Amino acid sequence: MSDRIECSYDLGILGGTLLDPAQQVHGQYDVAIASGRVAAVEPAIDPRLCKVVIDATGRLVVPGLIDAHVHVFEGVSHYGINADATCLARGATTVVDAGSAGADTFDGFRRYVIEASTTRILAHVNISTMGMLSRKIGELEDIRWADVPRALEAIEKHRDVVLGVKVRLTKNELVSRDAGLRPLYLARQAADIAGVALMVHPQRAWATSLDQILDVLGDGDILTHTYHGLEHGILDDAGRVRASVRAARDRGVAFDVGHGEGSFDWNVCERALQQDFPPTTISSDLHKYNLGGPVHDLVTTMSKFLLLGLSLENVIRMVTADPANLIGRSDHLGTLKLGAAGDAVVLDVQDGRFEFADSGGIVRYGTQRLVPTRVVKAGVVH
Ligand SMILES: [Zn+2]
Repeated sequence: MSDRIECSYDLGILGGTLLDPAQQVHGQYDVAIASGRVAAVEPAIDPRLCKVVIDATGRLVVPGLIDAHVHVFEGVSHYGINADATCLARGATTVVDAGSAGADTFDGFRRYVIEASTTRILAHVNISTMGMLSRKIGELEDIRWADVPRALEAIEKHRDVVLGVKVRLTKNELVSRDAGLRPLYLARQAADIAGVALMVHPQRAWATSLDQILDVLGDGDILTHTYHGLEHGILDDAGRVRASVRAARDRGVAFDVGHGEGSFDWNVCERALQQDFPPTTISSDLHKYNLGGPVHDLVTTMSKFLLLGLSLENVIRMVTADPANLIGRSDHLGTLKLGAAGDAVVLDVQDGRFEFADSGGIVRYGTQRLVPTRVVKAGVVH
């Protein structure tokens, strides 16, 4: 008689505390993955059934994180960074590129980045055919680049990875000098015809106020850079969340963090949270100019929301279940339910005194920090 046990699972993540808001689970559970999918979630799984074991004792186990706003068109867009080195390695197994590529560049983005990366990459197509190529020439400097038929072609060709249409409205040399709000209306038209979401970057826009931009957004659309401290913010002159902002949330507009280089202000965010205006999704807007700080990675942005008083459960939900819902993939992403993608992160929740800066360089100190110690994508440890 042999006492050898056949391995049933490729990987076991054992001994940790599972926090999976989609399943409303927060407790001691082991997770096992087979053939790239979650095969068991049980109070105790026999390690002898697992070919590879991750010991998560004393740590938090969460579904692979979803970063709903990054820029990973490395080598082409001036913002682009390497997804595997900056997202996957830091816990974001799924990311959404927010308009780095437009119709002229999306084929290359797909072939050389999306298909060449281990990180799962989805994207919004920029309404500008060139996308975000140059630090010197704005993508909407010439309104002819805001091309609805071309955007529609790109969406149709890449529908399996495209979530929506992205438009930036800032009035400067980085985006547009004189386009006004026309790109917003053209992007709206493209999104409506294709039946996809519209994602808008609103700060310092060609608009009388944010109200004028929100007027155009409906259920499933996304306003990003929610807590920026520039013109066209979510607060009125008295520091109250604008009525138009609450009305937009009520009709299903998602409010994304998109921390970025210049789009996250402690005071704006704190005031909004005090008035019960949390984000729909916590995202980093990670790109070349904020990777070295103040953003660093998604987990640092998450740690900032712990500092601001959101619960650990809410913070994890806003990078797992909630973005999975927003991108229409809650059946297999953002959760460790049976049959879901075998993407997980082991997080160390560290206590201490940690320094965090917002986009203005203002430093606050937090007492907790999230640090990814193991990242699993489709059952493979990275
Ligand atoms: Zn961005």
